[in-house]
Amino acid sequence: MPTATVVGSGPNGLSAAIALARAGLQVTVLEAADEVGGGLRSHETILPGLLQDDCAAFHPMAVGSKFLAELNLEDHGLQWCWPDIDCAHPLDDGEAGLLYRSVEHTADGLGADGRRWRALFAGPSAGFDVLADDIMGPLLRLPSHPLTLARFGAPTVLPASVFARVFRTTKARALFGGVAAHTFQPLHRPLTSAIGLGILTAGHRYGWPVAAGGTRSIARALVAVLTEFGGAIETGVRVTSARDLPPSDVTMFDLAPPAVADILGGRLPGRVARAFRRFRFGPGAFKVDFAVEGGVPWTNPGTRRAGTVHLGGDFDEVAETERDISAGRMPDRPFVLVGQQYLADPQRSAGDVHPLWTYAHVPNGYSGDATEAIIAQIERFAPGVRDRIVGQAVRSTTEMSVYNPNYVGGDINTGAKDLRHLAFGPRTTLSPYALGVPGMYICSAATPPGPGAHGMCGANAAAYALKHLQH
Ligand SMILES: Cc1cc2nc3c(=O)[nH]c(=O)nc-3n(C[C@H](O)[C@H](O)[C@H](O)COP(=O)(O)OP(=O)(O)OC[C@H]3O[C@@H](n4cnc5c(N)ncnc54)[C@H](O)[C@@H]3O)c2cc1C
Repeated sequence: MPTATVVGSGPNGLSAAIALARAGLQVTVLEAADEVGGGLRSHETILPGLLQDDCAAFHPMAVGSKFLAELNLEDHGLQWCWPDIDCAHPLDDGEAGLLYRSVEHTADGLGADGRRWRALFAGPSAGFDVLADDIMGPLLRLPSHPLTLARFGAPTVLPASVFARVFRTTKARALFGGVAAHTFQPLHRPLTSAIGLGILTAGHRYGWPVAAGGTRSIARALVAVLTEFGGAIETGVRVTSARDLPPSDVTMFDLAPPAVADILGGRLPGRVARAFRRFRFGPGAFKVDFAVEGGVPWTNPGTRRAGTVHLGGDFDEVAETERDISAGRMPDRPFVLVGQQYLADPQRSAGDVHPLWTYAHVPNGYSGDATEAIIAQIERFAPGVRDRIVGQAVRSTTEMSVYNPNYVGGDINTGAKDLRHLAFGPRTTLSPYALGVPGMYICSAATPPGPGAHGMCGANAAAYALKHLQH
């Protein structure tokens, strides 16, 4: 029986392992941490009974993932829960852009931009499953559905700051800008619309659900599937050199490119090693989890019902903070993402104390403490929240990269999602998963289609590996 070793057990490592085991390989996953899951872990970090997601929290991309859907994870205990409102972007005047799963409901709240929102998202979200064939893999290849992709794809090449001009209201522009800011890129760069439009379209198709019992439920379900296919997982095993790798027909790295270069050393072809050592990381995330008694007293009523809240003021302010962090400057008022997962999944709260998941966009490797800036941004749209905070847990950019070495300098996207990276992946090649060493591949979020708990990088890399195993 052919064998495979997968290094790293994030959603991509586990997905690659499952795809290989399902194809009949004897698979072993080696994970450095004491627990599987990478970005899929959850813990009671602050108080017993108060469940926080360590990393990924909201899952439009996971529910929309063709690969995860094939696995019937619901048969292994995974249950999705949807908040009433997917995302809110409150503004200083007390208004908020509110994103519902329904295009209609969203459009109804956007006043003069309602018709435009409907025209932009109704078609692509209805056709998202067809589109996903093309956008959830390497961008530079022959599309399976060229006309659908062209209709969706044309606006994605635009900078978000140009695309945002299609909207006339502050609310719609801010709502779009907050989602586009998930790229951690200056919003005047080309293609920065792509990730925002992709997340919005997937969200209108599938909503922005959380996993009941924490994001760790996704990891548990993936482990159950892998075990059914005969795969094994060893935790507490950090691979630091090629000597740590058992001989295998396929070796798959769910790691950041420089780590792969360090491990394989001279075994990597020079051009690949050089590209991986020069690999650029994006800005960082500074994460603070809070325990909040009675929940957050948002001024805007819709925001009290939203799973995700984007804090950063209007589009121009968000754009300016994203430009600052990319240039290595910490803004006074950083862009902050807030998660109120307990609204959809009440078991995460301890009585009337609720878990609040937050992180601020900060420069890569930021060495300061952004906790106060995060609290001030929440207080700006929810006066009085400070008095309700009864506990907190901080993970700085440095701690983030210790917690998971893939998040270098706190870069939770595993790579700056600039034009070259989005077009090609970790190096300039049409085979982004190949390492140029027979039988060895990279499958982390540094490869297409990029970050998110969808497992598609792993599934695509495994499919590529299997094709070459058979020949
Ligand atoms: C704060 C935060 C919020 C996020 N929010 C969301 C969200 O809401 N929705 C969403 O879809 N995504 C979100 N993400 C992104 C998502 O978590 C990642 O894109 C995803 O986890 C990447 O998966 P991966 O398999 O490529 O790598 P990872 O999940 O990073 O897993 C890599 C694994 O490899 C292990 N490893 C590293 N080095 C070694 C080594 N040398 N030897 C052995 N093992 C090693 C690590 O311990 C880790 O378990 C968030 C991430 C963070 C940090």
